[in-house]
Amino acid sequence: MSTPIWVTVDDSRAYPAQSIAETRWNGFACPFFTRETVERIARDFTRDEFAPRVSFDSDALVLTYPEYSDEPERIEPSPDGTYALGAFKWCWSVVEHNEYPHHPGYLYDCTGCETFCHCTPGATECVFDGAHNGAAS
Ligand SMILES: [Zn+2]
Ligand SMILES: [Zn+2]
Repeated sequence: MSTPIWVTVDDSRAYPAQSIAETRWNGFACPFFTRETVERIARDFTRDEFAPRVSFDSDALVLTYPEYSDEPERIEPSPDGTYALGAFKWCWSVVEHNEYPHHPGYLYDCTGCETFCHCTPGATECVFDGAHNGAAS
C-alpha cells in the first residue's frame, strides 16, 4: 500500500488521499479518496450546517449542497474504486509541515502536525485535537 497523501480543505482537519491527480484546479489539488475516507469526511461534514452533504447511492457518491437548490451531484468511482470528491470545486491543499525542524506530530501551530494523528506505538500522544489512532499509551 502506498503512503497516503494528507489533504485539507479548511486547514483544521486533514484526510488521507490515495492519489492526487496531476491536473490542478486554480492551483488546488484534486485528490482521490477511498470509500472509507469519504464516509469519514461525510460524518465530519454533518457537524457543519453549511457543508455539503455526502452520501452514497449504491457505488455512486451523491453530493448535495444545503444552501443551493441545485440537483445533487453524482460522482462515480474511478476504476480503482476511489472517489474524486470535490475535484475542480473544493480548495483541497496538500498538508505540509512547517519549516521549523521538529518531530512530526508534536509541534503546535504546524498544519501538518495539528490536522491529523501522528501517534506511534509507545510515543506520547500527538498534538492533533481529535481521536487518536489508539496506538499510543
Ligand atoms: Zn509538523
Ligand atoms: Zn495522535
